Amino acid sequence: MESTAQPNPLECPDCHALTADLEAHKHWHSRLVHDIATAVDKDISRRAHT
Ligand SMILES: [Zn+2]
Repeated sequence: MESTAQPNPLECPDCHALTADLEAHKHWHSRLVHDIATAVDKDISRRAHT
């Protein structure tokens, strides 16, 4: 077994995905949530104006 270079995969507490870089994964999460929130917000205001 020569897996010393590979870090142990960590399980994301939010989506239970295995990731080698949980910090980057969490950043990805917050960005994704922000993008969805922004898109929903735009959609709501667009519907409200029409
Ligand atoms: Zn996750």
